Amino acid sequence: MSSINIHPVVDSGYRASDASFAGGTLVCNCASNPVKVKVSDDIAHNHACGCTKCWKPAGANFSVVAVVPTDKVEVLENGNKLAVVDPAALIQRHACKECGVHMYGPVEREHPFQGLSFIHPERFETKGWAYPGFAAFVSSIIESGFDPSKMDEVRSKLRSSDLEPYDCLSPGLMDYIATWTAKKSGALPA
Ligand SMILES: [Zn+2]
Ligand SMILES: [Zn+2]
Repeated sequence: MSSINIHPVVDSGYRASDASFAGGTLVCNCASNPVKVKVSDDIAHNHACGCTKCWKPAGANFSVVAVVPTDKVEVLENGNKLAVVDPAALIQRHACKECGVHMYGPVEREHPFQGLSFIHPERFETKGWAYPGFAAFVSSIIESGFDPSKMDEVRSKLRSSDLEPYDCLSPGLMDYIATWTAKKSGALPA
């Protein structure tokens, strides 16, 4: 069972969570001239994600990804190495062109997540950020070539790692998105 690589943060037993964590500096994987991005706020909704778009470290089947307010994100160094992976995507993932690490991904178009940026907290120079709270888009790891016959094992490992597995987002986030959509359409009062 432990042979399945979820993500180093999960597999290593990382559980630290510092209530006073207020951000830090994200650093890419380049040995020289790394991209540095300052985040001056705590992270929210940290989770493991199985989608094919999020950046995953080598060998991992999931990413670990959280959100922060975009106005709390600032590129400090070597921003010239950043490029948007897919300009058509909702999340404008800014990746280092040399090492491939996604440094931050703002949502700029009209959407419930507008004003938020997706970041990978494992890239913080410091620890203390919250352990992921759930696993999203679990079935999507099959789209990257993961053996479908091992999905029971994956979900079992996620549960034993305190990560409830969902095949979309968590119920809380799905409700949040649906509420935003209903207010926009007039189905609920704004
Ligand atoms: Zn890099
Ligand atoms: Zn994802």
